[in-house]
Amino acid sequence: MKAPEVRTVPCPACQRPALYAERNRWRPFCSERCRTADLGAWASEKFRLPADAARGDDESPRDAH
Ligand SMILES: [Zn+2]
Repeated sequence: MKAPEVRTVPCPACQRPALYAERNRWRPFCSERCRTADLGAWASEKFRLPADAARGDDESPRDAH
């Protein structure tokens, strides 16, 4: 008899245990929210444009030109 293994990993965004299994489509994050937040932070770091920062009305930070 084997209990189903439930692996968890620390969520990179909030450090809480995140289910590391196929049913967690957001792995290694704990939720869509954390995944989106992390990607958003990464994207804004990488693609931050001085022009956008100056305008101040960037509803969509992932605007691709
Ligand atoms: Zn999280």
